[in-house]
Amino acid sequence: MPTGITIQSQCTWPERDNTYVHVEKGDVMEQFQKKVLSEVERFDALSRVSVALMSEKNESRLLHLIAQTATDLTGAAYAAFTLRPVNEQGVALVPSEGNLFYLAAVIGVSKEQEEFFRKIHLGGEGLLAPIFRYGVPVRVGDAMKMASVHTDRPTYSHEEAREAALRFAHGNMPVDELRQVGVPSMHPVICSFLGVPLLDSNNEVRGGLLLGHPEPDRFSADDERLLQGLAAQAAVALENARLYQAMQMRAREMDALFQSIADGVILVDQRGNIIRENERARDLRQQLLQLPDGKQIMEQMLYQPAATVLSRQMKEETTVTVIDGSHEQRDYVINAAPLPLSELYKNSALLGDASHDAEQDAHSEAVVVWHDATEAQRLLHERQVHADTEARRSLLQMILDELPTSVYLVRGKDARLVMSNHASRTVFGAEWKPGQSMLEFLGEHQIRIFMNDGRILPNEQLATLRAVQKGETVYQHQEVIRHADGTTLPVLVNAIALPPNKFRVPSLVASGIEEPELSAIVVHQDVTALKEAEYLKDEFIGIAAHELRTPLAVLHGCAQTLIVQTARGNGSTLADWQMESIQDIDQATRRLVELTEDLLDVSRLHAGHLELQMEAIDMVALARRVIKRTQLTTEQHQLKATYGAEYLVVNADSRRLEQVLTNVLNNAIKYSPAGGVIEIALAKSPDQQHCLLAVKDSGIGIPVQQQARIFGRFMRADNVRGISGTGLGLYLCRELVERHNGRIWFESIENVGTTFYISLPLVDDIHMA
Ligand code: ATP
Ligand code: MG
Repeated sequence: MPTGITIQSQCTWPERDNTYVHVEKGDVMEQFQKKVLSEVERFDALSRVSVALMSEKNESRLLHLIAQTATDLTGAAYAAFTLRPVNEQGVALVPSEGNLFYLAAVIGVSKEQEEFFRKIHLGGEGLLAPIFRYGVPVRVGDAMKMASVHTDRPTYSHEEAREAALRFAHGNMPVDELRQVGVPSMHPVICSFLGVPLLDSNNEVRGGLLLGHPEPDRFSADDERLLQGLAAQAAVALENARLYQAMQMRAREMDALFQSIADGVILVDQRGNIIRENERARDLRQQLLQLPDGKQIMEQMLYQPAATVLSRQMKEETTVTVIDGSHEQRDYVINAAPLPLSELYKNSALLGDASHDAEQDAHSEAVVVWHDATEAQRLLHERQVHADTEARRSLLQMILDELPTSVYLVRGKDARLVMSNHASRTVFGAEWKPGQSMLEFLGEHQIRIFMNDGRILPNEQLATLRAVQKGETVYQHQEVIRHADGTTLPVLVNAIALPPNKFRVPSLVASGIEEPELSAIVVHQDVTALKEAEYLKDEFIGIAAHELRTPLAVLHGCAQTLIVQTARGNGSTLADWQMESIQDIDQATRRLVELTEDLLDVSRLHAGHLELQMEAIDMVALARRVIKRTQLTTEQHQLKATYGAEYLVVNADSRRLEQVLTNVLNNAIKYSPAGGVIEIALAKSPDQQHCLLAVKDSGIGIPVQQQARIFGRFMRADNVRGISGTGLGLYLCRELVERHNGRIWFESIENVGTTFYISLPLVDDIHMA
């Protein structure tokens, strides 16, 4: 079978006659000229270029250098270097056929030709097939002749060309029987062709180094060997360049990683030199060094841990606490470890420009890591505190829920619920949702609150609202709760106002904002059973008092008659002791009458039968009258009154107000057994809406533990032994004052004295219920 190449019609292969020709070697002269470049010179040039190859790390310069060297050494007119694309790890990305290889460097062609070659797929067929497919060099003396020999067959198929290449690669066919499949139109005219494969360490084709010359027989067997040697060197140099680039990239990655570590990382040598540090470490070190004890801190955080781990050759962890520039405490966890550097030093990129004697200090460097644990610890602490608070809160809730009395905590002027217990649900007969205001809750569930005597309690007088709106602490306030279904529940309400700083919202505390709202703890005690017993008692007291009234009136009348008639000389004269006895009887019955009157008032109050005769009265005149009368009952005490106004008109039942004032004055006298001055002041309140009466004594005072209950019925303090009284006076006072839309309260210190205050709305500002 004849061998040869096919001339494709579209290529610029020069026109030849279609005769079958043999490829001839160049003439003797050319052979001789080539020999001029002696073996020695070639070897010299080759070793020089190999040094250059080994030291060139830039891949494109390297490729160009290889191509240039190849042309220089062989006298080729053209050189092309095609490469198989590989990934970062050097793994081939395309098959070795050559058509997917890219043009890495080219010499001897025009710019346009180069551009063209870079755009097209480079064929791996025909003469190139043995190189790319089988890694075998191809040297052809005159490709043009080869083409003209095979003019009987204008084209060969790729399969035929590959088959020929296979046979050639196995040494079963001379080179001139290879099949050409044509060349692209822009291809320069090539007669002499020499191509060698670039084989990697696994003998895999990595590329091809292809030389050409327009004249025939320009490449000798020596050229072929030379080019093969160059290709082998180029393969190693390319691999090196790839490794170098991969390593550089890895080094850059490592460096970026190193710099992005949130902890400070420092490499210190045995002599305390900082070999390398990341940005965080550098910043922190500079900050710390600016502190007054910066050097000492650096010693603790860096040099000491480094020295310790280097001497012991083992890791160490310590914690250092530093007070930073803004006077905040910061905790640093210091991890130090000796660093086996022999490996690292091989990779010099990691250490940057560290000018170090690697061998000498290979085991004398320590890596110190600074971890700022402040936030983590703060978080941990906060979590613990939160867990503690939560545990305490649930314990408190448990205790509260077990209580038989209703307890709830409200905040703000509208008394929004913060927390409540189970019993509060029973008391109100409905569930009060946290965050809901009291009036909204009452409205939603149609709950109404009444006073003891059945009148509606105005909202502003609700114990809860008084506590959160005025900061008042209200004790034993009697309220009657009526549920939507009509059932009623009498309760005693204690509302304890909490000043804003006692109960603060954590988020506000953290942000430093003052909590402006008042809070209150409110306790409702169901007094149904008590009321029942009280009712029976009141009934009994009412009946007893009523029954006592007639015999007492008789007794009192008789004693008076005896005294008056004896004084007038009617009847026999009485001995002194008889007269004294009659006067004692008279006083005792007077006292008994007062007591029964009080008892009757109590039962009237409870039965809702206490009628007030309201009229406009001048408090100043009333006070003057009562003070004058009371002063007559004592010589030991001086009642000193001051009046802030000429008259203060209130709408009131004057008899009842006299009763109130008399009891308060009598108490001041009675509970100041040593005598002394009792100061009375009557004036307008600061808001000009009320008249305010204060009665101040310097007596025995009321013990703190009984102050809360002192307005209760029959309530007497422990320190009144030897002083007579029933404990009804203040109870009636409060009931009466409140019926006048007023308020009564006191301040007292045991053994120092007591001041009672009564405030009543002035006539212009009366809100009648
Ligand atoms: P009475 O029913 O006769 O008035 P009483 O004076 O004991 O008897 P209250 O007027 O209700 O009853 O007073 C109740 C208690 O309050 C007194 O027993 C006393 O312990 C205490 N108290 C009232 N006023 C004073 C005062 N000015 N100083 C000290 N303790 C007082
Ligand atoms: Mg009294």
